[in-house]
This record gives sequence, C-alpha cells and structure tokens, in this order.
Amino acid sequence: MRDTVDRISTPLAVDPTRLHALLERERTHCLSAHPACAALAARCQAHFPFGVPLHWMRDWPTPVSLFLRTAQGAHVQCADGVDYADFCLGDTGAMFGHAPAPVAAAVAAQAAQGFTGMLPHEISARVGELLADRFGLPYWQLAMTASDANRFVLRWVRALSGRPQVLVFDGCYHGAVDDTLVDRDPITGASVRRPSLLGAVHNHPAFTRVVPFNDLQALEDALRDGQVAALLAEPALTNFGLVPPQPGFWEAAQALCQRHGTLFVLDETHTLSTGVGGWARTHGLQPDIWVAGKAVAGGVPCAVYGMSADVAARLQAAKRQAPQGHSGIGTTLTANALALAALAAALQHLHTPDTYAAMQRAADMLQAGLNERLHTHALPWTLTRLGARMELQFLPDPPRNADEVRAHAQPALQACLHLFLLNRGVLLTPFHGMMLCAPTTTDADVARLLQAFDAWLAALFD
Ligand code: PMP
Repeated sequence: MRDTVDRISTPLAVDPTRLHALLERERTHCLSAHPACAALAARCQAHFPFGVPLHWMRDWPTPVSLFLRTAQGAHVQCADGVDYADFCLGDTGAMFGHAPAPVAAAVAAQAAQGFTGMLPHEISARVGELLADRFGLPYWQLAMTASDANRFVLRWVRALSGRPQVLVFDGCYHGAVDDTLVDRDPITGASVRRPSLLGAVHNHPAFTRVVPFNDLQALEDALRDGQVAALLAEPALTNFGLVPPQPGFWEAAQALCQRHGTLFVLDETHTLSTGVGGWARTHGLQPDIWVAGKAVAGGVPCAVYGMSADVAARLQAAKRQAPQGHSGIGTTLTANALALAALAAALQHLHTPDTYAAMQRAADMLQAGLNERLHTHALPWTLTRLGARMELQFLPDPPRNADEVRAHAQPALQACLHLFLLNRGVLLTPFHGMMLCAPTTTDADVARLLQAFDAWLAALFD
C-alpha cells in the first residue's frame, strides 16, 4: 500500500525511513556492481581533488563515480562493462546521440588536416550560411562553450548600449557566468550572490537584476529606468526543474523589452530540444541575440551566438570605437578547424526534421508511459515536456517560477530515483529529473526506463 503523509509543501510525502533504507540498499548494490570503477576512483584520488577531473562530476548520487568507457548513440558503457540506456545524454551535449556518425566522420577527416590556426578556416563561409538557414538570424560569432558565449554576449550588450545592468530570471543557469549567478531575495526582491559561489569578490548583484519567471509586472518594473542592456533568458527555465512560460508571456515580455530599449537575448542551449531551430523558431519568437552551445556541434566543444542586422551593426561600431587592444571577448581555440568541421556536419545532418522526428517519437512514447504510471498510481507529480526533453517534478502542477520549485524540492527522493534507475541500467540527468531522448533512443530503451520506474514505485509504495 502507498504510505503517504500530507504536508503543506509536499502533496505526497514518502515515508523517510523507507526512503533512506532504500537509498542505502541501492548504494550498497551500486558499489558491489562497480569494482572497476571503484578501483579507478581510488587511483584518481591520488591526483585529482575530489577524485575526478572536474569537481562536480562527484555530484551524481552514486557512492562511487562511474568512469565511462564508451558513449555511442543513446548508450554509454562504464569501466565495469555495464551498459546504460542514457537519458542524460551528457545533459544535452549529446542530445543528437553520442558520437553521431556525420560529426565523428567530419572531425576525423579534419583532424588529419589540422586542428587550429588562429585564422578563419575556409569552411567558415558555409558554416555562416548554415547557421543563418537553421536558426534564422543573419549574423554570427563563435565561442567554445555556452558559458563563454553568454559571457561574451553580456559584454557586447553592455558595450553597444552603454547600459550597465543586465536582467535574468530567478532560478536561471546560463553557465559559469558570474553576472548570472545571482538569486532573488524572496523578501526584499533584491539581487543577491548565489551562496554556493566560490571565490567571488566582485559585486555582480549590483549589476544584475533578478525577477521571477512569468511575472510581467516585475519585468516591467525592472526595465522601467532604462538601465538594462539586455534580458538574458531561456525560453523555459530548464535548470531549476522545468518551468514553462505561461501562454503569451514571451510575446508580452519581448514587447516590454522593445519599449524600454532592452535587447532580448535567448539562451537556447537546452531548449534546442524543442524542434528544428529551437524554441524561438518553433514558436515564432524573434530574439535580438540567440545563443546555443553543447549539442549545437553534436557535442564537440563549440558554441554560437547569432544576432539581428541591427545588433551586428552596433556591435561592430562598439568595437571600432574602442581603443586597440584586448576586448575581453574570445579565446584562442575558439572557432578552431575541428569545431567548425563538427558544426558544419551537425548543422547539415543533425539539425533536420528527420532527426527531430526520431527524437520526438521516442519522447512521445516515454511521456505516454510515465503519464500512465502517474495516473494509475494517482501520484500528484508532473511531467513537463519541451520536445525531446521532459522533466519529472514532485509537484502537482507545472511550476510558474523558481519559488514554486523550491517549495517542493525533495532531494532525497530525487537521488533515490536516480540511483535506483542507474542500478537498473538507466541514466537520468543528475541534479534534477530530466530525461532527454536521442534520435537513436529505441523502444527497448524507453521500456527499460519504464520497467525500472515501475520497480522504483513498488519499492517505495507497495
Ligand atoms: N546555458 C544553459 C541554458 C545551460 O543549461 C548551460 C549548462 N547547463 C549553459 C548555458 C552552459 O553550458 P556549458 O557548461 O557547456 O558552458
């Protein structure tokens, strides 16, 4: 029988004793199934702080890191030879599948011809044409990562507008970009530094305003004094659960930006999952600047930002008027030949209706299966979907803003779901309940996830 206790913040509470016992059991099981990973973890402890090459690789809920051996299509294999149906997909870097064949071939061919040279590669002209064709904006610049792209865009918008402030939504994540790592004080509404930030000494909250998502009044209040260079936003918050925009929100928000002379920057690094060309193209929105990284070049390090003709003209004027010297924008390896080759291949072969149709088909199946289970078990949880990506959230209705997500946070339940599924050969995105389908995600992969989910519900409630 389901064992529930009603609480104000969580409509369905799971018996904590049972939950923690299950978590312990799953931890023990995970350890015993991964002796090779445990041995690698022990060796890595000698040379990597936290035992991993990047500290947040330890934030997965596993008692020991999984060390990857191969990543192909919608599957990864760890050093113990265990196969996983991967619904994390490098949290979107591998949205088109791991090592997609056209990109792997293009990178291999280019690798034999040279990696990097500080000059534009001859394929650049084709890349520009493909970017304009796929994403609808005429002018483009490249970066290595989405974090870089967002950082550079914030410099450009301040430079070309002469305005000091930028605006983001509470609960946003746009990468390792100090300007955006700010929260909204729920009492005063003021911007405050995100408490988890390490080594921060500059006063970014003084230059970044934060308003709740889906709140047009707060947005207008923040724009009114004409000091905001740009609104930087995802079409839906995807890094704080999944918070969809209310109907009509973006049309009104964009009109407000236009009225107050604020540039509208859309970061589609995750919402590229929506459809060919991303959320803006699918929904007919026309941002002034558009950013994407991660999957844009099939998972090879590369990011892009596109802009209108007006923004391109202002950006060139800002650079021309500045004294000679460092702009603070760009890195040496940016737009290297390998990245450009990968980008061209991805734009041509992956950002296509056929690819998206395959991703959506798998996502349709997964969504139907999960919704059926939520319904059958009368679980007051929500599944929110953006094309090939969906998010299971432990709250009864899709949230409207970050505060509603905070009010329903259940980290132990989340960790338990992740670990339980991982022990049954299914990877979800760490940190939240995101599942992404690749073009190569099969019916059997979806069935594996659903079966594991059934077993998890039974372990928690029966
Ligand atoms: N923008 C969004 C919307 C993101 O979700 C992320 C990363 N999760 C980034 C930018 C930064 O991407 P990267 O870590 O590849 O720089």
